[in-house]
Amino acid sequence: MTELTPTAISNDDPRPNLIGLDREDLISLFAELGEKKYRAEQVYRWIYQHGVTEFADMTSLSKNLRESLGGQFRITRPGTSSRQISTDGTRKWLLRFDDAQEAETVFIPEPDRGTLCVSSQVGCTLTCSFCHTGTQRLVRNLEPGEIVGQLMTARDEVGVWPSSAADRALTNVVMMGMGEPLFNYDNVAKALRIAMDGDGLSISKRKITLSTSGVVPEIRRLGHDLGVMLAISLHAVHDELRDVLVPINRKYPLKELMAACRDYPAASNARRVFFEYVMLKGVNDSPADARELVQLVKGIPAKFNLIPFNPWPGVAYECSEPETIRKFANILHNAGYVSTVRTPRGRDILAACGQLKSESVRQKRTA
Ligand code: SAH
Ligand code: SF4
Repeated sequence: MTELTPTAISNDDPRPNLIGLDREDLISLFAELGEKKYRAEQVYRWIYQHGVTEFADMTSLSKNLRESLGGQFRITRPGTSSRQISTDGTRKWLLRFDDAQEAETVFIPEPDRGTLCVSSQVGCTLTCSFCHTGTQRLVRNLEPGEIVGQLMTARDEVGVWPSSAADRALTNVVMMGMGEPLFNYDNVAKALRIAMDGDGLSISKRKITLSTSGVVPEIRRLGHDLGVMLAISLHAVHDELRDVLVPINRKYPLKELMAACRDYPAASNARRVFFEYVMLKGVNDSPADARELVQLVKGIPAKFNLIPFNPWPGVAYECSEPETIRKFANILHNAGYVSTVRTPRGRDILAACGQLKSESVRQKRTA
């Protein structure tokens, strides 16, 4: 593990930050300033396509306009409380926002792609029994700029600007960090629209996956609105067990959840719905569970991602044996489904699924 130097945190700057404003917001802001619409569009591209952090670098604007904008506004990424690189190359940023709240972003490099795991909330209002983030008490929604700021921070460090350049380092985005993204729908949608825009961060919607515990009405909205790839944190094949593991199931039971997946417009044979399934020893990992899982997803173009449980202090669950996971995966495979077993990444820097942030809070307390 390598610790990098944290970046400065300048939360005493009174100038409003332009990061998080979309094209329409900038157009209205510029109209108020008496500036033309195309100026707003230029600034939008400077910020999101070119990644500039200083108005002085916006060379297509007059010197007067650059100076006047710089006096009134700023373009700043979130600060970082810590930056770590795992022995396996995974990178984790503990970001610190203007109100000193923190959330984590994780970059996972692989030979053929680089995936950024983005947070949508500080903490999570839900309390899935196997998830450490769910034990964290402090919760607030992240603002659009705090979400898109995670992508920009990562691109500053591991990618290249402009965003339209053939950038092999940061290719995919997963909304799988802290929080339930569909409980912060508007801010997540706004950030993802900027991410998907060709004049913005230019990441194709097929390379963006949103993971949800199953907020059914918002899944439907997401499909019509954004059409990004969908991942469902399923984890159980019966309501009895899912009510315990993923308590939102009491509100939106499996039948309704599966119907929403069946109707998800972006799903097709080419673009499947991902089902995440955490492997808990003796709880949900039997061959019978695997066979019922196959029945449950009938009619949905599905792909499975089995996640070996990452334990945390005080939790009662254990991870299934590798042999049990292999057998489970084989049953899905023999039924014709692609099913991958997620290799835990960045465990030495506590960046693996379910280990985010609450553990860093704990570390600070013990320190
Ligand atoms: N709140 C959203 C997004 C978080 S995604 C959701 O639940 O889908 C994080 C993924 O990691 C989810 O599938 C979650 O169920 C899983 N997860 C949480 N805690 C875990 C743990 N301790 N070990 C392995 N996976 C875990
Ligand atoms: Fe929240 Fe997802 Fe963790 Fe459940 S698994 S507590 S929804 S972050």
